[in-house]
Amino acid sequence: MARRSATVRLAAGAAAVVYVAVTVTAAFVTWRDLSATEEQLPRYGFYQIRDLRFAFADVTNLEATLDLLETGVESPAALAVLSTLSDRFFVRFDALRFVGGTDRPPEFDRVLAEASEVLRHLDALVSAGAPFHPDRIGTVRESTDRLLASLAGYVHAVEQETDRSIALQHAEFGALKVRVVVSILLLSALVAGVLALLLAHRRDSARLRVAMNEDALTRLANRRAFSEWIAASEGRPPHALILLDVDDFKPVNDHHGHDVGDRLLTAVGDWLRQDLAQEGIAVRWGGDEFVAVVPVGKISRAEIMARFAAALARRPRLKVDEGEIAVSLSGGVSLWPEDGATFAEILLNADIALYEAKDLGKGRTVMFEPEIRVRRTRVDSMRDNLRRAIAEGHLRLLWQPQVDLLRRRMIGAEGLLRWHDPETGAMIPPAEFIPIAERSDLILEIDAFVLDAACATLARWDRAGADPIRLSVNVSARHFQRPTLVRTVADALERHGVAPAYLEIEITEGVFLADSPIVRANLAHLAGMGLRLALDDFGTGYSNVAYMMRMRPSLVKIDRSFLREPDLAARDKIMGSLLGLAESIGAETLVEGVETAADLAFLTNAGFRRVQGFLFARPMPEEDLLAWRASYEAAGAIVQDAARRHGRTHAAGLMRAIPLASEAL
Ligand code: C2E
Ligand code: MG
Ligand code: MG
Repeated sequence: MARRSATVRLAAGAAAVVYVAVTVTAAFVTWRDLSATEEQLPRYGFYQIRDLRFAFADVTNLEATLDLLETGVESPAALAVLSTLSDRFFVRFDALRFVGGTDRPPEFDRVLAEASEVLRHLDALVSAGAPFHPDRIGTVRESTDRLLASLAGYVHAVEQETDRSIALQHAEFGALKVRVVVSILLLSALVAGVLALLLAHRRDSARLRVAMNEDALTRLANRRAFSEWIAASEGRPPHALILLDVDDFKPVNDHHGHDVGDRLLTAVGDWLRQDLAQEGIAVRWGGDEFVAVVPVGKISRAEIMARFAAALARRPRLKVDEGEIAVSLSGGVSLWPEDGATFAEILLNADIALYEAKDLGKGRTVMFEPEIRVRRTRVDSMRDNLRRAIAEGHLRLLWQPQVDLLRRRMIGAEGLLRWHDPETGAMIPPAEFIPIAERSDLILEIDAFVLDAACATLARWDRAGADPIRLSVNVSARHFQRPTLVRTVADALERHGVAPAYLEIEITEGVFLADSPIVRANLAHLAGMGLRLALDDFGTGYSNVAYMMRMRPSLVKIDRSFLREPDLAARDKIMGSLLGLAESIGAETLVEGVETAADLAFLTNAGFRRVQGFLFARPMPEEDLLAWRASYEAAGAIVQDAARRHGRTHAAGLMRAIPLASEAL
């Protein structure tokens, strides 16, 4: 493109140089030729030639009169005629004297000299009076003959010269016509060229102006254009500003390639312009962020949100090879002038609302409220503290045993994270900080830390020669949308030389909310590596159960809320069907939150054998876990032994005794 315009410019420059050279040469030649012709122009005008002819006639008349006199007309009347002729002759030639101007040719001077001669002889004839002497008449006659001869010669020369000049003028005039036409054509070409250049310049500068104010990909206004729009916003009626961000744009870009990413942004841009912001202004804010400002008049905040929600429901879908991508957008809304005095402030508040929308789980739109700003400040400071806590090692994993009631053994332990704040001495529970970490990439760091800590513990126990235990850790649902998850897990296992079968990953139903190819690939990959996958908090979400079961979990963890169900008949039915569901796909079940002996009695009667809960143990440091296992399993053996000896082999009764025995230790 740049090379083409450089060539065009070079050609235009060369054409301009040739053009100027041709025009200047043509002008020079024309000037020179016209000057030459000018020199050749006849020196005698029409009146001069006429005067010469009259003079010729006068001399002829005079000669005729002299002829008469010679034939003998002698009368005072003849004298009078001659005198009159003499006067006229004088006047005529006196006038002719001035005809030729200063540069009279010598031939003309000779004519004048001859004329003076005639006049002199005529005067002499007239003064001598009648009768006229024939000799005198003869003298006059000779002089008039000479005058006539030179006058005729002169007139002939003048006429010839004039004819030649006129012929020359004709020829030059023809050439001049051609030159004039050519010059006019050249001039028109020049004018047309200049006009074309001016037009091109105008078009270019218009295009440049557009390009400077437009986003090249989506053809929406850019930030610059938005600043200008804001600058001219004084006196505008109420407007709503929505700041939109494409959710998980990076994975789309990474997974489908940048072409699909670009198509997605263009589709969002088109939708924004044609649907959401038909009035007002639609802006590509940068990256995957968009801004639309639309006039809203006097409608309520709820109505504004409803209007945006309706438009968002029509947001674009994108066809790709593997099917369709439903574009998910998070939005922050802020109103002008209600939420801020300037558009800059409105934008800032919309940004705060957008941040909140993202934190609440994306795909939603939040309208700015002052409380959101307060909450955000708290969340942001918590996030900063958490980041520091990770870096400074204030997070640690505690382990809660999981037991098999039938075999009276600890079958594993779940790692539960604790944040110890050294400044306040407080222990911050995961329910407080995990959700905050989950709303940013901090959770990825936390997951990596947890995975590494679990593998380190397994490796330490292995080195100490302890019987192998399976450890489970909770990995955030968000992490399953990252293609890096498998690498993080594999790295932790490799770093500590741990066999994958000893690591169990607990996932919640949140994982299945996003049925994306990345999530499915991650699940398949982890199972393929030989890791155990446990479905945590089972039964609490609204996910597609069939879909969850299709991932074939090794363990289904039934949420503790079912144990707390006050309607006991309902509890029995629900838990029975959950157990049946898990068994039908060949998964083990484990019930969480076993707190009381009554819980235990119910569970053993209902056929559950794996449990976890405060009745057995609270989460404890790594150092205490092996000792707890030893005492739990020893107590189990004592009770079993006593039961055998006393003939009490009924499993339920036996198992009821086990946690009590472990607590006694
Ligand atoms: P969860 O994975 O379902 O963990 C079980 C929770 O139940 C733990 O709470 C545990 O202390 C608690 N619990 C165990 N037995 C009983 C009981 O008998 N009664 C009652 N009332 N509670 C019991 P915790 O440690 O506060 O963890 C809460 C949640 O935080 C966890 O639920 C898990 O979703 C999340 N979490 C904990 N640690 C991690 C972690 O390392 N990574 C991630 N991503 N999430 C974690
Ligand atoms: Mg768990
Ligand atoms: Mg749970």
